[in-house]
Amino acid sequence: MKNNVIFSINGPVIKVKDTKTFSMLEMVFVGHKKLMGEVIEISSSFTTIQVYERTVNLKPGEPVLSTKEAISVTLGPGIINNIFDGIERPLRSIAQSSGAFMPIGSDVESLDIDKEWEVTLKINKGDYLTFGEIYALVPETRIIEHRLMVPKGIEGKVMSVVPNGKYKLHDVIATVKDDNDVIHNLTLCQRWPIKTPRPVANRIQTTLPLITGQRVIDTFFPITKGGTAAIPGGFGSGKTMMQHQIAKWCDADIIIYVGCGERGNEITHALGEFSSLIDPKTNDLLIERTVLIANTSNMPVAAREASIYTGITVAEYFRDMGYHVAVIADSTSRWAEALREISGRLEEMPAEEGFPPYLSTRLSQFYERAGYIETTNGQTGSITIIGAVSPQGADFSEPVTQNTKRFVHCFWALDKQLAYMRHYPAINWLQSYTEYIPDLVKWYNRNVDINFLENRQKFISLLAEEDKLMEIVKLIGSDLLPDHQKLIIETGRLIRTGFLQQDAFHVEDTFVPLLKQNRMMEAILYLHQKSFDILQNGVAFRMITNTNIFSDLSKMRYEVKNDELELFDEYFKKIDTVLAGIR
Ligand code: ADP
Repeated sequence: MKNNVIFSINGPVIKVKDTKTFSMLEMVFVGHKKLMGEVIEISSSFTTIQVYERTVNLKPGEPVLSTKEAISVTLGPGIINNIFDGIERPLRSIAQSSGAFMPIGSDVESLDIDKEWEVTLKINKGDYLTFGEIYALVPETRIIEHRLMVPKGIEGKVMSVVPNGKYKLHDVIATVKDDNDVIHNLTLCQRWPIKTPRPVANRIQTTLPLITGQRVIDTFFPITKGGTAAIPGGFGSGKTMMQHQIAKWCDADIIIYVGCGERGNEITHALGEFSSLIDPKTNDLLIERTVLIANTSNMPVAAREASIYTGITVAEYFRDMGYHVAVIADSTSRWAEALREISGRLEEMPAEEGFPPYLSTRLSQFYERAGYIETTNGQTGSITIIGAVSPQGADFSEPVTQNTKRFVHCFWALDKQLAYMRHYPAINWLQSYTEYIPDLVKWYNRNVDINFLENRQKFISLLAEEDKLMEIVKLIGSDLLPDHQKLIIETGRLIRTGFLQQDAFHVEDTFVPLLKQNRMMEAILYLHQKSFDILQNGVAFRMITNTNIFSDLSKMRYEVKNDELELFDEYFKKIDTVLAGIR
């Protein structure tokens, strides 16, 4: 038997006796059907390969071909408004041509090679081009301009340029002669290995918020453009809605959703919903600036691992064009389980809960690809990563959640209990955190209000006090509390129901700008302070609640339109009048 043929098969892991031909992380084609695989271990006796497609019907003795290329994706127009699997196969066009059955093997083009794109060239004969320079523009969708950038390994003088016009993906639109007189073709696409981060000129400290219009995020636990956040939360905690709200409203230019699940129908459902979301900014479909990457049920675990890398590579490509990209990965727990499964098959020594010891390295490598950067072509762009984790039984102490917490700077703890009480978004304000406040101070002072962070801190302190008091209330009831403590409980309730709760289905409440968020805080804090003052003067707390002023304020989130912030003045006046009436 020849050496470079399959020796053994164990699920997605195959072994080959040839240890000379292949190199680590090389892409290989496995079997007669040329399944895509990746070399993950080379020992003195075997080369081990993980296969990204189903290995059913594969037999020992079938050939394994070397490609000398790492697992790579094709980058070019046609990525946006598309749905890919973990190894960038276009699911929509496959479904159109082959029905529900996914053909296996490598003969599927990632991007449409026959489609003609309107290309505007940005270079002239004689120009000297280096890596990353933009040489042509293509309107990819109605909203996204695709900027073609010089691929890695090409540098030199432009020898020829085609006139502006319609071209296909692989058409040569310019040629470049390098310093060794070798001619290189520039087309509409390039390849990039998914496990290698694309280079940047500089990493810049993140100082801009990614605004989501969701109060609990923007005010309480903000994330920066280029930041990282984790959303833990199992089924029924409002996770999907949360992701949709972020995707729809956040001020990123491009959204990349990586659906990394186990059940095909769940993913199909998520994709279907995502594809039909309307973009509030354009009134067009959100998919016009979205890329969806998903595992399908007929793909093995190894492809789940790849999907995360494919997603982040596509994100980096658009970031390098100067865009702000948000990556939503759901869920990284399923991804980690894929690592565990493959590691188990490799008989590696397991660490905590059977996960491989390199779990934390892999997670950190993923989150490290977020950031705000200066691109090699002198623009700025960012990747913000929002990774969902779905711990079994909402146990946040398990290894994936714990390790994720080490690498993300924001943690939005979705709480099933809150969801059960219909407190949406069900982000627990006591368990969540953000580490980005120091980065954002300047921005808030300039763009929102000099008192914004102080107001925020007062809100957080009031809720913490409320929480402590609720422990006492549970034991003895609230009647015995002194009035100023009753006031804290009432203000806490108002913050929860009038500020933290936000109705995704309400036209005014679904997105709220930071200026309104701040005015809402001011009104609530004003009511709290004024009430406190009159309690000091001997007024009974009951007298204040009898006026219904607290419940009046809980309606301001619906009643004050986003562009009518002057209406808040009425609330301040009302607080004064109502409380003055008690005295
Ligand atoms: P999960 O994905 O965690 O199973 P969903 O995101 O689908 O949960 O949310 C379940 C339901 O909760 C939604 O159908 C919706 O009715 C309600 N819900 C969640 N978030 C909100 C919100 N911000 N505003 C209003 N309703 C919400």
